[in-house]
Amino acid sequence: MGASGSPKVSVADVVATLDERYPPAWAQGWDRVGLVVGDPSAPVRRVCCVVDVVPETVAEALDQRADLIVAHHPLLLRGVSSVAATTYKGRIVHELIKNDVALYVAHTNADVASPGVSDALAARLGLTGLRPLVPSPPGDPSAGQGRGIGRIGRLPTPMTLAELTAYAARVLPPTAWGVRAAGEPDRLVRTVAVSGGAGDSYLADAERAGVDAYLTADLRHHPVSEHLAGGGPALLDAAHWATERPWLDDVAEHLRKRLSVETVVSDLDTDPWTVHAASAAPAVHPASPMASPASPVDKESRR
Ligand SMILES: [Zn+2]
Repeated sequence: MGASGSPKVSVADVVATLDERYPPAWAQGWDRVGLVVGDPSAPVRRVCCVVDVVPETVAEALDQRADLIVAHHPLLLRGVSSVAATTYKGRIVHELIKNDVALYVAHTNADVASPGVSDALAARLGLTGLRPLVPSPPGDPSAGQGRGIGRIGRLPTPMTLAELTAYAARVLPPTAWGVRAAGEPDRLVRTVAVSGGAGDSYLADAERAGVDAYLTADLRHHPVSEHLAGGGPALLDAAHWATERPWLDDVAEHLRKRLSVETVVSDLDTDPWTVHAASAAPAVHPASPMASPASPVDKESRR
């Protein structure tokens, strides 16, 4: 808090700082980013960083006496004709305005930025020598400077897929979902691609890149099965929130360095999955070494 009682930082200052790091022109055409709620001239002493703007994270921001929320996911993505408090999102808009809390969104523009969402995710895994999984194409507003979707890097030490899955579950923010993986558990992994959020549209890019494994979120049965049958990298499916939460620390640190504001990072897990149970019996799976009493020779030949 400023001791003078006359805050020097305004909503407009925060917007300018974030727009500079995450230019709105870098966002996908369908995306909606930037200032969503707020008066540019309003003072900002404290910023709360969240992945999702939901009643629980708004309540947290109010508890923390934040003046501005930076969110990754847009609150209002599709056209709305009402923000009446009788609707879920309208109630959130009311809460924000009534409590003088501004809302700013950096979504796909923060995904392609460097450093961006996937850099923070890659850092949690200790990946080094990072490069984009899908570089922004020439002519794109975000082209160049290592920008693009996802990151590829090297693990600090090679590990099996089973080890990597346990490691990822340990270093990523905790969720009920944890991390699951697809592929041969003892496959050795040295290079990993990561993409924060729903990344199954980049499966082919991960295969083209020749990485040993690809970690993202929201993976589905058929695309995963077909990808593996085609000889693609092993896949790790983490909780969507857990893949994007690491970025919040980075954006908070940037704001603290650039502006005299305090920051709070929400650790409220907004992933919708709240319960996870492992099956009672061990899985019988063709990719699992426990699946058959096959000889080591048979196991080798499966690769
Ligand atoms: Zn996301």
